[in-house]
Amino acid sequence: MTRTSKRRSARQRSLEEVLAERLRSRAVEDAKFRARQAQGKLRRFVTATFRKEEVIEKLALRRGECNRCGACCEILFKCPFLKKQTDGTTSCGIYEDRPNQCRLFPMEQRDLAEVRGTCSFYFIEKPVKLEKAS
Ligand code: SF4
Ligand code: SF4
Repeated sequence: MTRTSKRRSARQRSLEEVLAERLRSRAVEDAKFRARQAQGKLRRFVTATFRKEEVIEKLALRRGECNRCGACCEILFKCPFLKKQTDGTTSCGIYEDRPNQCRLFPMEQRDLAEVRGTCSFYFIEKPVKLEKAS
């Protein structure tokens, strides 16, 4: 093998190694993201079902309105009741009977991380105290 072809093959190898490393780290990031989603689903189910007081406290910090993007209905997997509309919005096929954790999403700041920033709700740090008008 000539020196030029050795250099070329070394370059090729290092390029392949870089690509393999990128794929590996993307797979690790995806796995971490999905693990966070799974944890979040369970956390929201438990909170919405058994911790009503906590829900009230959390929702006091929530602001904004739903833009009907449907991202929360695709956490971990796409819900079979999710319907996509022609205008790009979504709706729920069992809206009146949807589970509490669906009605209440998002309950806290960390829930937003599971929908990669597409949710239009946001959270404030502390509840705002309303002063009496004089
Ligand atoms: S039940 Fe309805 S609100 Fe809940 S995830 Fe499915 S489509 Fe969304
Ligand atoms: S992710 Fe947020 S804005 Fe989008 S449908 Fe769910 S609650 Fe509404």
